[in-house]
Amino acid sequence: MTSTVVDHQGQGVCKPDPTGLRLSFSRVDTYRSCPLKFRFAYVDELPSQPGPHLSWGSSIHAALEAWWDQKLPQPPPESSLLQALYDHWDDEGFAGMARDEKITWYRHAQDVLRRHHARYAPVYVPAVATEQWFELDLGNDVTVVGSIDHVQRTPSGGLGIVDWKTNRKAKTRQQVSGSLQLAIYTLAAAQLWGTEPDWVALDFVVPGLRVQVDRADIDTAQALADIREVATDIRAERFEPTPTALCPWCDWRAACPVFEGEGPDVTAVAVVELQRLRRRSQRDQARIAQLEQLVRDRLGQDATVEIAG
Ligand code: SF4
Repeated sequence: MTSTVVDHQGQGVCKPDPTGLRLSFSRVDTYRSCPLKFRFAYVDELPSQPGPHLSWGSSIHAALEAWWDQKLPQPPPESSLLQALYDHWDDEGFAGMARDEKITWYRHAQDVLRRHHARYAPVYVPAVATEQWFELDLGNDVTVVGSIDHVQRTPSGGLGIVDWKTNRKAKTRQQVSGSLQLAIYTLAAAQLWGTEPDWVALDFVVPGLRVQVDRADIDTAQALADIREVATDIRAERFEPTPTALCPWCDWRAACPVFEGEGPDVTAVAVVELQRLRRRSQRDQARIAQLEQLVRDRLGQDATVEIAG
């Protein structure tokens, strides 16, 4: 068989190496959500087109990383965070999108970052590390690689670990405690800094909510068992499909033998877009009428306004 390898950027490379298996949280997570999807993405390496949500999330991540990575004694100003967004904006997922729509996404990202700054500037402590790369050797030629978004010093001199999320909805404490990703980061911190973190957290930057749990709430033994089980299944080339309600959004649905739908509900999406455009058009018409009236009030009721496009 071949083994799946990732490079530093987390990109998949399939090499004819019969032994070493390098995984990451997202790869394990993909395998657990659907083994066939994992095969399409990381073994067959079928191409996928990044959508706007992916590019929007990476742009926010890159801006946060640049801002926190300055590690200044005082919080850098909000303007430097917004500048980082401008500098690191990932346009790829917005290809073909109308300019107005793109601007809406960009402004939303600015609002999210302004909120992040307002939340953390008053309680700012310089980061110990941002995007800290790690490689965890789990034995049996299995390595888990990844990078931790943000590490900070706690008041007691310990470490706090944060992963930024751009989901619209925050997870519950129970879900965060069961996070495989945070369990991996807990193990990585012990390897990198010789001490486990005091706490770990998922920071949901869109709703502006950090869900933090103590180290004691994280089950690293279970996480290791889960990863080893996935590694065994990958080596055995168990790539059965696991269809769910999310299949219409799967990037590889066209290649999937069990997918029967047509993809995302294009009609419903079009109806929502149409409603939005109609509302905007009504607002524009109302404003045009106001402006025409204003001109008539000033120039006389017979005045007509003609504006060349
Ligand atoms: S369409 Fe569904 S079942 Fe098929 S590969 Fe994608 S997630 Fe798996």
